[in-house]
Amino acid sequence: MSVVSIKPKTISKKETKEEIIYDAIIIGGGPAGLTAGIYLCRARMNTLLIEKAMPGGQAILTEIIENYPGFPERISGPELMQKMEEQAVRFGLKIEYGEVEEVKIKDDKVKIVRINNQEYKTLTIILASGAEASKLGVPGEKELRGRGVSYCATCDAPFFKEQKIVVVGGGDTAIEEALYLTKFVREVTIIHRRDRLRATKILQERVFSNKKINFAWDSVVTKILGKEKVEGVLIKNKKTEKEKKVPCQGVFVFVGNIPNSKFLKELVKLDQKGYIFTNDNMMTSQEGIYACGDVRKKLLRQVVTACGEGATAAFAAQKYIEELKGVSYK
Ligand code: NAP
Repeated sequence: MSVVSIKPKTISKKETKEEIIYDAIIIGGGPAGLTAGIYLCRARMNTLLIEKAMPGGQAILTEIIENYPGFPERISGPELMQKMEEQAVRFGLKIEYGEVEEVKIKDDKVKIVRINNQEYKTLTIILASGAEASKLGVPGEKELRGRGVSYCATCDAPFFKEQKIVVVGGGDTAIEEALYLTKFVREVTIIHRRDRLRATKILQERVFSNKKINFAWDSVVTKILGKEKVEGVLIKNKKTEKEKKVPCQGVFVFVGNIPNSKFLKELVKLDQKGYIFTNDNMMTSQEGIYACGDVRKKLLRQVVTACGEGATAAFAAQKYIEELKGVSYK
């Protein structure tokens, strides 16, 4: 193992944040980032997690999580994520708030993460910045956002009591959110661009037996209608090419996600959509930089896979840091 002279300084009151060299900086506080934090802090790595809004990632927008093992009675998304954050903080994880502006390589050991115009130095970076809701990109969507157009049923469902709404999409998120919305609204029309759902079978069983939900198959939204607030959507049947108006007061859009990787520019290898390529140990194309969770290119995006990848990324980063510092177990 190589021995190098880099030793992270201990934090003293006199030092500014810029002078500290962290062992690891984790970008993003969802399940992947928090799990990486738990593992790195238990390994006594000096670790900072940077979060732009509130720890928990997209999981805090989920009412109920029933496929994360260990909770046979189910658990709410916010509760699960609060527990993960508490666990990470208990082991010493430091959390800073701000949006990452830039990530760059200083030299062959040290990397720099800039937030709020301040530079933080680190030996490794774990990218766990997740993904955010895709937009439909149709007229009326931007203009009526917050005035009937929503991307979060858990946040906005109570505003639509006894109203008629549409849900766009056919994946797990669309179906879960449509089911949740039926607790509040009078009627839900799911608009899906194909004639079968992508969602998991158990969710399909529930949605097909729910009397408040009906479907517009093979259809896409071409326009969201309304001046001050949503009054309806214009949809087009892809097979017949016929357009029709569906009156409604709310439009909930769940048509997949886009990865939060823009700030990386060309630092690591991304696929066409912006998902980060890694090897089996979660290392990106750049040595010492790892990626995990929804921002990573992979098959399955779940809380449970995010956690597993967070643990793997942390362990791989730990080994890399120990090698840089010349730590040997022999
Ligand atoms: P998703 O699986 O990518 O599904 C997106 C849906 O939107 C698809 O049905 C897709 O249609 C449709 N769509 C995409 N672009 C569209 C467009 N421009 N116009 C109209 N429709 C469009 O996304 P997701 O449902 O948000 O799920 C993301 C990931 O999180 C998945 O891996 C999912 O399994 C996971 N997730 C899991 C759970 C859970 O386990 N309980 C809950 C939520 C999410 P097509 O089907 O025709 O492509």
